[in-house]
Amino acid sequence: MVCCNRLFARNLRALLPDYAMTFYSTNDATNVVSVQEALFNSMPQDRGLYMPSAIPALPAGYLNSLPGKSFADIAYDLTKLWLTGDLTDAQVAQLVEQAFPFDTPLVELEAGRKYVLELFHGPSLAFKDVGARFMAGLMSIFSASYDKEVHILVATSGDTGGAVAMGFHNVPGVRVSILYPKGRVSLLQEKQLTTLGGNVQAFEVDGSFDDCQALVKTAFLDQELNQTFALSSANSINIFRLIPQSFYYFRALAQLAPNHKPVVFSTPSGNFGNLSAGVLGWRMGLPVEAFVAATNLNKVVPDYLSSGTYEPMASLATLSNAMDVGNPSNFSRLKRLLGDDYASITDRIKGYYFTDDQTIDEIKRLRDVYNYVACPHTAVGLLGLESYQHFAVDNCGIALATAHPAKFSPAVDEILGQAVDVPERLAILANRTKQAIAIPGTFEAFKESLLQTA
Ligand SMILES: *Cc1c(COP(=O)(O)O)cnc(C)c1O
Repeated sequence: MVCCNRLFARNLRALLPDYAMTFYSTNDATNVVSVQEALFNSMPQDRGLYMPSAIPALPAGYLNSLPGKSFADIAYDLTKLWLTGDLTDAQVAQLVEQAFPFDTPLVELEAGRKYVLELFHGPSLAFKDVGARFMAGLMSIFSASYDKEVHILVATSGDTGGAVAMGFHNVPGVRVSILYPKGRVSLLQEKQLTTLGGNVQAFEVDGSFDDCQALVKTAFLDQELNQTFALSSANSINIFRLIPQSFYYFRALAQLAPNHKPVVFSTPSGNFGNLSAGVLGWRMGLPVEAFVAATNLNKVVPDYLSSGTYEPMASLATLSNAMDVGNPSNFSRLKRLLGDDYASITDRIKGYYFTDDQTIDEIKRLRDVYNYVACPHTAVGLLGLESYQHFAVDNCGIALATAHPAKFSPAVDEILGQAVDVPERLAILANRTKQAIAIPGTFEAFKESLLQTA
């Protein structure tokens, strides 16, 4: 099936300039669009997900050039591979410079064997800055030539909201509406998305993250809303959030000693955008022995990996709340990246899930053994890595640290019995006043209040 889809997509590509990147829908391979369409549509009307018609391969010798390259250097190289037909080199340089004024450092826990890749050094202190800021930069480049204001709808389980709010704040020609589940995000997460004002509006939804996500998906299919606004999304279904997230997997390798063992990445997962990005990097040519899909009790993907059956469920509230997803929106993309073949999928991806009690014990253990303070999501990632390495010893493990522990400060403080250091840029939010529109979790209510803001 996959090979036929790709062939068909390639035939259509013959009609477009062959230097331009195109994307097809996972539900209809004949639905081929340009970079701009994939960026602003976010999701095809047929409810599939956009996939690149061709995945660019690394230039020969590129891996040998990695050591010593900064995150921004790597982002520049790889963005050019993807967008040469759509952006000038100067635009790529500017995009990367504005989006990524921070690094993703690799922290050693055990030499040669166990590392943490810290992805939380951006403005919102979570890895979602990488995708959100790249996407915001790309949208502002293209929207300059539009006459209609772009209205971005985004559902957040906690961290997307802050990253998107800060990434898009004051971007001309763009307005943002953020939906978050009432009472299910941390205090500081809530402050990040409800205190900016200006072109950023927050909706506090009486429901779960899945409800928020469903509201956004329904809005995209609603005719009246589409006539009123130029709707777009910043959720991890947008392929331009995913592509830049592959960059830090390369940056991880750039920081390892040249004689390192085969690399295993453990990615704490909810919607599976982050893990899909790693697999995308692997498809481009990044050498990876295996990926660990580490989850909390929202374990539909680990269950799929062990049983072969995918059964979405209602999401459960856990300590690692940014991963409380019962029907991960990137699951079909993850499968597609591995040829929709169960054997290939289970060969490359190993799944493990953990309870809140295990996560709490791990947070304490990491502090006691390594003097490392981890957020609950990062702790789940490290638990996943440890489970993998329990049986497979000859590898170099890297767990992704997806958020700064201070974002989950009351919970982590209580677990450790000590106050977590709060970075200045987070601390200043505590006294700002929350501004959000409270709505029930029904589409009618959401639509009505959106139209009132038109
Ligand atoms: C969003 C998030 C995750 C889950 O990432 P996905 O790409 O949705 O799988 C994990 N940890 C943190 C801190 C997050 O904010």
